[in-house]
Amino acid sequence: MNDEDVAGIDQKRKLFLPSSPDTLDLSSVPDWLPKGKRGAVCFGIDDVHPRTPELYEENGDLNRGVLGHVRWLLQRHEQLRITLFTTADWRQISHIPTRRLLSRTPWLRDRFHLSEILPAGTMRLGRHPHFVQRLQELPRLEIGLHGLNHVRRGRGLPVEFAGLDKDACKRILRESIAIFEEAGLEYVCGMTPPGWDISENLMSAMIDVGLKFVASARDIRTDISPPASTNMSGLKGVSLIYPQFIYDRRLLHITSNFQATSPIDRAIEIIENGGLLAIKAHSLKNSSSHIALDGLDELYRNYLDLLFARLDNIYGNTLWWTSMGEISDRCVNRSASFSTHATEKPS
Ligand SMILES: [Zn+2]
Repeated sequence: MNDEDVAGIDQKRKLFLPSSPDTLDLSSVPDWLPKGKRGAVCFGIDDVHPRTPELYEENGDLNRGVLGHVRWLLQRHEQLRITLFTTADWRQISHIPTRRLLSRTPWLRDRFHLSEILPAGTMRLGRHPHFVQRLQELPRLEIGLHGLNHVRRGRGLPVEFAGLDKDACKRILRESIAIFEEAGLEYVCGMTPPGWDISENLMSAMIDVGLKFVASARDIRTDISPPASTNMSGLKGVSLIYPQFIYDRRLLHITSNFQATSPIDRAIEIIENGGLLAIKAHSLKNSSSHIALDGLDELYRNYLDLLFARLDNIYGNTLWWTSMGEISDRCVNRSASFSTHATEKPS
């Protein structure tokens, strides 16, 4: 058994997950799909934040950048809903270390930011009312949380919550929520943690601040089947195609299982298995000479257009076009009503 296996078991024990990924505990999968629907589709975009044209190679213009693609897709697909996982005060300039000497110096490298970062407040949502207004104007959009700054001190640059105790996680979450409220931007009760990283401290903090769902696993490789579980980025051993309660049923988890490089057949297989096709994109295509495979550019947008048309053609009204926030509300409400009935004593 290698270190990764040991770490995987330790992670599952801490997160109250099933003991073996081969025997996924389907009892933690709620009755999530509405009657008459044979599968569902949702679409989430990470790293959404205000931006300046000089910071990245593209997308400086909100009309032509990510929000332009979002608007185009929403116009062409009237049932489509999109969740924008938005960073409250984005400070990342590079996702890799640029302070090379510092990043090679033991002790110091764990205490400082290993790349230049933006001054706090530069991209704070409330300072960009035009951006906030654009988000509010677009139909069928919801906003989820995606960290406060999207940076951390030390190695693992964007993995903001890694290694933090519960109080520190809670402070970050509370400050993020305060920034959303200050900007007048409504949000749903869920998050994709930067770098897909989740810990027991973070989950406990999420529950304390009132969050209900988390999307902290991405797996675009594992073959599709009802008991398939995740084994790629982030949380391992959770359902690949169904929403699933984790952490003693206190949080709903949703896995991202499709991106720009995935074939259409994968999407169809997920739906044929009564699953949730959870598509992921990132708002940055080019950043610090890094090309994100799932960056939302014109090519990815056109592929999604084709995919959505094909799914609509095959499944029509039997496909549930939904969002993570809507799935979470439905599962959490049904779970609460089930527990109430289950604990009611006969009179
Ligand atoms: Zn991110």
